[in-house]
Amino acid sequence: MKRIYVLASALCMVFASCQKNQEESTEDVMALPQEELSISKEQCGTMGVLEDKIAENPGLIQDMAAVEAHTKLALEGGFTKRLAADGKIEIPIVFHVLYNADSENIPLSQLEDQVAALNEDFNLQNPGRNTIPAEFSAVEGNVGLRFVLEDVIRVKTKKRQWRPDDSMKFSSSDGSDVVNPQEFLNIWVVSNMPYRGGNILGYAQFPGGSWATDGVVMDHRFTGTTPYSTGRTATHEVGHWLNLRHIWGDGGCGATDYVADTPDSDGPSRGCPSYPTVNCGTADMTMNFMDYSDDPCLNMFTEGQKARMLSVFTNGGFRATMAD
Ligand SMILES: [Zn+2]
Repeated sequence: MKRIYVLASALCMVFASCQKNQEESTEDVMALPQEELSISKEQCGTMGVLEDKIAENPGLIQDMAAVEAHTKLALEGGFTKRLAADGKIEIPIVFHVLYNADSENIPLSQLEDQVAALNEDFNLQNPGRNTIPAEFSAVEGNVGLRFVLEDVIRVKTKKRQWRPDDSMKFSSSDGSDVVNPQEFLNIWVVSNMPYRGGNILGYAQFPGGSWATDGVVMDHRFTGTTPYSTGRTATHEVGHWLNLRHIWGDGGCGATDYVADTPDSDGPSRGCPSYPTVNCGTADMTMNFMDYSDDPCLNMFTEGQKARMLSVFTNGGFRATMAD
């Protein structure tokens, strides 16, 4: 995910001392209101939204535990997965572009850029791969998903901002209703989402949640290629949508992300950390898509993450219908 911005980073190459003031610099460069550029420390809203959902519906814990139990069996080799003729699973995407200002009605080319970035990241074609240290490239996984743009739904809405409470997923609350979530990945692209002291870049719903709210939500400024983004926020959110947790396990040392080949860490990375950055006794995999490093410094999934993601497409899996 890209928290600090390309143009500000370019300025900071000239003015090295501005490293800690990049967001202020960005305000000048981008000429956007301060509040729109205030990014929450919790830049991905997925876990916070999950807490809110469980508070509303405690039964969600059991539904997600059932997905976990299936994943465990799938990882033991109990199920087969169904692939397209080229050996890949195809994921058709329906974008819902919800806009108030015309600038938020982002062009088709930006959505196509987003789809292209997803295809790079899930097929070992992302340009930053050559920077992955040998320790981690040894476990890099080629997930093998093929994303295609199925449809774009554009809705002019009265809302100028959204709470990450799924209201954007219903026409009854000035949003746009989900389209066939058992066949399509629904991605809602919205103006901005203030949450817990700042804006979040996006959030996703894990497998096991309600079909009516299944999918990913993105701030339009972090969708595709923009001055803020190279498209990696969506890669991160789609990782959650396929049941990946944050690489630090959303806790301190010892908290698990349910994947064996990702190293233990005590929290998210920020910016573009140098290697090795050691926490909990091991080097952090700061370039993993499920961390919070800046977009250009996010470059890999692991084999263990790949296996966990593909489990949802196996027989009886939450997303098995997409692989039929
Ligand atoms: Zn996240």
